[in-house]
Amino acid sequence: MGENSGTGVAFTRSPATGEKALYGEYLMNAQGEDVVAGIRTPHPISMLKEEMPETYEEFGRVASLLEKHYRDMQDLEFTIEHGRLYMLQTRSGKRTAAAAVKAAVDMVGEGLISKEEAITRVEAAQIDQLLHPRIDPNSKTEVIAKGLPASPGAATGKVVFDADDAAAKAKDGGKVILVRTETTPDDIHGIVAAQGILTSRGGMTSHAAVVARGMGKPCVCGCEALLINYNAKLFRAGAVEVKEGDLISIDGTTGSVILGEVKMIAPELSDEFRILLDWADQIRRLGVRANADTPLDAERSRQFGAEGVGLCRTEHMFMASDRLPIVHEMIMSETIEERTVALDKLLPMQQGDFYGILKAMDGLPVTIRLLDPPLHEFLPNTEELAIEIAKLRLTNGDPGEIERKDAILRRARQLHEFNPMLGHRGCRLGVTHPEIYAMQVRAIIQATAQLLHEGYHPETEIMIPVVMSAIELKLLRTQCEEVLQSVEQETGVHLEIPIGTMIELPRACVTADEIGKVSDFFSFGTNDLTQTTLGFSRDDAEGKFIPAYIEKKILANNPFAVLDRDGVGKLVKMACELGRSVSPEIKLGICGEHGGDPNSIEFFHLTGLTYVSCSPFRVPVARLAAAQAVLRKCIAIEE
Ligand code: PEP
Ligand code: MG
Repeated sequence: MGENSGTGVAFTRSPATGEKALYGEYLMNAQGEDVVAGIRTPHPISMLKEEMPETYEEFGRVASLLEKHYRDMQDLEFTIEHGRLYMLQTRSGKRTAAAAVKAAVDMVGEGLISKEEAITRVEAAQIDQLLHPRIDPNSKTEVIAKGLPASPGAATGKVVFDADDAAAKAKDGGKVILVRTETTPDDIHGIVAAQGILTSRGGMTSHAAVVARGMGKPCVCGCEALLINYNAKLFRAGAVEVKEGDLISIDGTTGSVILGEVKMIAPELSDEFRILLDWADQIRRLGVRANADTPLDAERSRQFGAEGVGLCRTEHMFMASDRLPIVHEMIMSETIEERTVALDKLLPMQQGDFYGILKAMDGLPVTIRLLDPPLHEFLPNTEELAIEIAKLRLTNGDPGEIERKDAILRRARQLHEFNPMLGHRGCRLGVTHPEIYAMQVRAIIQATAQLLHEGYHPETEIMIPVVMSAIELKLLRTQCEEVLQSVEQETGVHLEIPIGTMIELPRACVTADEIGKVSDFFSFGTNDLTQTTLGFSRDDAEGKFIPAYIEKKILANNPFAVLDRDGVGKLVKMACELGRSVSPEIKLGICGEHGGDPNSIEFFHLTGLTYVSCSPFRVPVARLAAAQAVLRKCIAIEE
């Protein structure tokens, strides 16, 4: 209806940052479709202030009234007809995790909502987004274009122009940035696969922006300086030409498009984030620990608020390139004497590992798990090795080398198992090769003694994996205690080190009253417990048939991601009750992947576990989810 009529969309707070200011876009002489479809790039709402000051003021007043009424950030749609404002729609606005956190904390300050409400306002799974990398401000960057900062965070990847290409390259492990004029729902698989999205058209409410924000992926959109040529598979930004496969970086917080790779820095937690998590800590009952295998992981998780390490997987330390030859030596040994030589070399290395982690977590518990994986995982692939040997023979290679490789191949074949996940792993290794566990226990105890001597306060715990019976655990416990006693005699230092077990087999769950008599604590290994309860291989099921099970509604979720409460959960509950029946104060933890999943965390809270342990980046998620579980239960009781 002419230049004094128009339409737009706006938020009462920034949906990207949560900052309290009107935030949105509009177009004069246009229809709503023009604003959201990305056909024309709309103007920021601040321009309305100059163009139509009275209408802008009226809009601000109405927006504030609606926000106060609904006590939440509003997403508004409006139209202006010959200068007169009409509100078309209002609803709670979708927002990034950063915005959700800031708006929730600010609204407590403004007296709009309570702390408890603030905690429930932030979706726990979503705060993962806050923990992603951003561009190091000190790094030199070549900004080639600027678009709209549609979804925060930064990413680097190779340019692709098509969603199918993005999906294919990502499947092969490639990191890509999907570049499109605009995106449509047909591009979803490409958006899922890409590290970030860059579009040349469309506003903050365009498809690319909304979808990327929801996924927590960086997105720059409406970057009109880009001239995209799909046929030639390139884009131009001024004088710069970027071809498919070239590396670019995007900064979804500033809207910058940068040539090449840039230095990223790990995310820091905002003040509001810390405040919200502090409130969550005051409310939650579950402890939150981290799964950490290195001092760096331990340090990082401590910064994220972890109250200890719930699982240190020692096999990850065996995989380091400087150790593998020694580990080979250990496995290849024909006699205990030979194996002891290799173990003696590993001992100081392991001691150093444990020293570092215990020091980083000083004063907090660190659960170190004895070696778990199948031995053959440390040996080379038998097929590749057989080909290598055949080639050496054909080319008259060095006989000594052929003999050495042959011996490795023989051993690898000997150790081969048809079901390694149900095979010679976990504490079965400790039963057949007690010297390996003895070396690890010695390294753990010596590291603890060293730290005590230096005035630190290590809280070491030893954990035995894949236990299926009390007799098995008792035997291994006795072996550990013998090492403990001999180190005590050597050092003259008395050490209190709890020895506990993972509960990750159905048999361990149903005999937990027996196991509880010889275990100082339980930690549920829900990855293996899910595998063994459902009979689903954790290495294969997710790629092969779980999607069909979800599609056909046989399963509601992937049971390796969200705990199967009716099956695995029932076993966990039974094991907790049996364990407590013989040891009322027994500490009960969970260190499978479910320890970082909000839905599963709620179940662990309701079951009365002592703590959850999850990957470092999920620690904040777990802190929040644990508080939400308390609040949800309170609401349920009130209802
Ligand atoms: C588990 O099984 O849940 C567990 C934590 O151990 P891992 O994943 O190392 O087998
Ligand atoms: Mg396990």
